[in-house]
Amino acid sequence: MELLARLDRVQAHLLRDALARHGIDAHVLNLHVQGAVGELPPEAALPQVWIADARDRERARAVLATHEAERRRTGPPSFCGGCGEENPAGFELCWRCGKALPLPDLEARLTELAGHLNAATHRFLVLLAEFDRREGWADGATCSCAHWLGWKCGIDLGAAREKVRVARALEALPAISAAMGRGELSYSKVRALTRVATQDTEDTR
Ligand SMILES: [Zn+2]
Repeated sequence: MELLARLDRVQAHLLRDALARHGIDAHVLNLHVQGAVGELPPEAALPQVWIADARDRERARAVLATHEAERRRTGPPSFCGGCGEENPAGFELCWRCGKALPLPDLEARLTELAGHLNAATHRFLVLLAEFDRREGWADGATCSCAHWLGWKCGIDLGAAREKVRVARALEALPAISAAMGRGELSYSKVRALTRVATQDTEDTR
């Protein structure tokens, strides 16, 4: 047995489950000393995640690093509106009482994800513009970048042509491009903006 990490109870169980998915035998210990907080240094009272086999150390540390990164990305934990239990950020059903996420939290989750989708679409468009500029699609069989998008990414020809147009237009509109990269502008809005904006007139406010 080897100590891997000290985490709060919910995070300790999530990490244990993540380790199990990677085939690493792990256990959460120290769950019952919470009543002793105040007498022990605070860290000593935290649940501990132990791995059964020290030979799994490197792989377990990699799983821990991924877990920590995911935790930072999803923000602080949420509390169930039904029973008050701590849940991972953006939980859909409380692990303890099964109550669904309150509607305002569900709404916040959707708007947050919309921002991530905008940022991911932006990344796609930036790479697409470069691919088109370097004529990565021109292998003799494909007649345009839009056709390539249809073939490789399953995008309708009309939508594909528009994506290539928007991607190339964004290259000359750095403020609009940056706002989309931060998740603040949707593809629909950027599409409309690229029809009217020029580098001198672009204003994302
Ligand atoms: Zn609950």
